[in-house]
Amino acid sequence: MVAVAEELEGAAEPTKSQKVWFGDGNVVLQAENVQFRAHRSILSKHSVILASILDVAQPDGEAIVEGCSVVKLSDAPRDVEDILLALYGDPLYTNRKEEIRFRSVAAMIRLGIKYEITHLRDEGLARLKLECPRKLEEFDRLNVRGGHRFLRYPSGIINANFATINLAHECKIQSILPSLYLFSLQCDLDKSLLESDDLPIPYPAMRSCIHGRQKLLEAAAKKVYKWTQQIGTIEKCQSKKICQDVSRRVMKDQLGRTGRSSGRYLTFRTWKEYAAGEAGTKYLKLLCGPCRSYTQVAHEEGRRAAWEELPTYFMLPKWQDLKGFQRLAKLNFPMPPFSVICLQDINYLSPSV
Ligand SMILES: [Zn+2]
Repeated sequence: MVAVAEELEGAAEPTKSQKVWFGDGNVVLQAENVQFRAHRSILSKHSVILASILDVAQPDGEAIVEGCSVVKLSDAPRDVEDILLALYGDPLYTNRKEEIRFRSVAAMIRLGIKYEITHLRDEGLARLKLECPRKLEEFDRLNVRGGHRFLRYPSGIINANFATINLAHECKIQSILPSLYLFSLQCDLDKSLLESDDLPIPYPAMRSCIHGRQKLLEAAAKKVYKWTQQIGTIEKCQSKKICQDVSRRVMKDQLGRTGRSSGRYLTFRTWKEYAAGEAGTKYLKLLCGPCRSYTQVAHEEGRRAAWEELPTYFMLPKWQDLKGFQRLAKLNFPMPPFSVICLQDINYLSPSV
């Protein structure tokens, strides 16, 4: 009955945050129906935007709670709670070894941008980077470990990777896109395109992924597995006839496999993984010593070369030119309409991370 009565009256009584309510606080922030009691000096120290909001004189009749003025924010209560906990030094937000919820990281980045709390925004990006390797060695470590370690996604989420891509596009974070796009190739992108008009990620992201998938397959053939054409022809080969015969068989076998691969695992599979796999176990033992050694060196060199070019496969700038937080004007692809929302009143002149 109480709930019905409240609905009839409009809004329910605001509730106090369980986690952010300092008895000696001198301002109450209210997001939707949740109130947070904090300190003006702390908030103003970290954010010039919040400082200016708090400095605006409260009109007469403004709500007062426990002697504090109430300042309303237009953000979700959970997001406000996250940034307040972070600003007050809650260990969850400062210890990068601890797992953190993805939505908390998203709040740190979104509200960090909105309220110009640069260190919060950058810490959020640092958390994302732990899951988004920029170096091949980091990718290999992540691959061995498998799954997410530093970010926790809602259990019902269909594709955590897509959620991160959407956040990256919304907040103009470029540096994590190559690995996010690479991970997305595990999904059936064609199915997403064919089955619904609603894309799970922005159109430019989908276009990049599909373009990259083809480029990765080409890189596999031209760089990583180029050795399959070269064994038996290298100067040090000790049994050219046998090694060249193996070369023909490996290439034939490889042709049949590429069509079934997403590109990711084919292109960046380590030589050790290849050697332990079906084809590697079958063919490598037939090669002479020098040719076998050559396959390992050439394979790893090819992988490294492909990784260096990875962003360009997805129509992005080279690794060194990718920005943490990127101004819209500098992006080389059109952004989706929804991203414009977060550009309002936001200063994107901050240096990249
Ligand atoms: Zn040989």
